[in-house]
Amino acid sequence: MSDLQQRLQQAGVHTLLVQFTDVHGCAKGKLVPLAHLGEVLRSGAGFAGPSIWGTGLPRSGPRSEYYARGDAGTAQPLPWMPGVARIVGDGYVDGQPFDACPRQVLQRALARLAARGWTLRIGIEPEFFLLRRGAAGTWLPADDRDRLDKPSYDLKSLPRQLGFLHALHQALAAAGLDVLQLDHEDAHGQYEVNFAFDEALRSCDHLMLFKLAAHHLAEERGMVFSMMPKPFADQPGSGLHFHVSLWAGERCVFDPETPGANLSRFGRQFVAGVLAHAGALCALAAPTVNSYKRLTVGESLSGTTWAPAYVAQGPNNRTALVRTLPGRFEWRLPDASANPYLATAALVAAGLDGIERELDPGADCTDDLFDWPLKRIREHGIALLPQSLAQAVDALQADAVVCAALGDTLAGEFMRLKRAEWSGYARHVSAWELERYAAAF
Ligand code: GLU
Ligand code: MG
Repeated sequence: MSDLQQRLQQAGVHTLLVQFTDVHGCAKGKLVPLAHLGEVLRSGAGFAGPSIWGTGLPRSGPRSEYYARGDAGTAQPLPWMPGVARIVGDGYVDGQPFDACPRQVLQRALARLAARGWTLRIGIEPEFFLLRRGAAGTWLPADDRDRLDKPSYDLKSLPRQLGFLHALHQALAAAGLDVLQLDHEDAHGQYEVNFAFDEALRSCDHLMLFKLAAHHLAEERGMVFSMMPKPFADQPGSGLHFHVSLWAGERCVFDPETPGANLSRFGRQFVAGVLAHAGALCALAAPTVNSYKRLTVGESLSGTTWAPAYVAQGPNNRTALVRTLPGRFEWRLPDASANPYLATAALVAAGLDGIERELDPGADCTDDLFDWPLKRIREHGIALLPQSLAQAVDALQADAVVCAALGDTLAGEFMRLKRAEWSGYARHVSAWELERYAAAF
């Protein structure tokens, strides 16, 4: 029996949850008795490849089987599922690492940084809704008393969800995450839970663990945990902001050379790459039809939705796509539906391109861009983010740097699926259309 098996057994574990993440950012996997840990680590748990979104694998032959090979370092008992330990798997096909496995796409991107002696650290900030189904299938905030005019940091509603939030905190802490803060966000039924930043791959694994825990604990309480980017048209959506820094050992490569600046030369070049590839990055970081209902400038109950629309950067400027801070930047583009591995891999490709081509992010933007009329935005040469999933996928297709980071198989599958998602949406007839057109002509 291996040390790991012994350790898990002593912790009361009898079953492994071998988990991987599909192209849409959804956790998938199966249960395997702990006695078979050795096989999970050596060859992996087997799945029918074509049954997993985004693999493009055939229905027969040696390449039809997808193996999730456990990464031993991720094995962790799940406090909310006593006796079960989650282990994160990397995709293998026909005995080889699978090129379209999102976790390995990220590892390939991180290896490019490692070749320069660098590691990436990210802090991922999930915003989410707690919902319930109302009469006639409508979706509502789970707490129907959550109705303040200005709901940010609401301390009336927060205590009513203390049971869920505390259970989530306890579960994450017991699974090794350092929970930093939990708050009510700016929409009815919307919350945010922050945990400490970490090395990029671990942070993505942590986010998936967070999602597993939150789904489970919300369901236990009769609620639906929702990472839908914009469930309510008249309220802010859910972002998944990334705080990003680059390190050479314990030295932060983004620390400024000049006092008073936020970022070093490499930091500014990295940000310039993120701005230069903003269109293609949208496809990965805001990957649903619904994402583009968040990425618009608009009023909310508290005055703004705080979602980015303009391709700009500035010191502590939450109205720009990139908000710079001392030694790091906040990438405000991603929303809660993003696959964190793919969004991070694309971010690395964009940032490295900025460094390799020594791009300049332009002058720091210190103004409130949400106050600027579109005419002024255009006069300053500030680009707009894509306004639909279709536009974002077009931008991705035109972006050789980001497509190369995804690899041919995944880029092809991703664009095929996302174009189908867009046409499915474009062809449906919505209540809004019927209301506007049915009796109009
Ligand atoms: N909910 C906002 C978004 O969609 C962000 C609010 C905040 O800055 O915390 O990005
Ligand atoms: Mg927030």
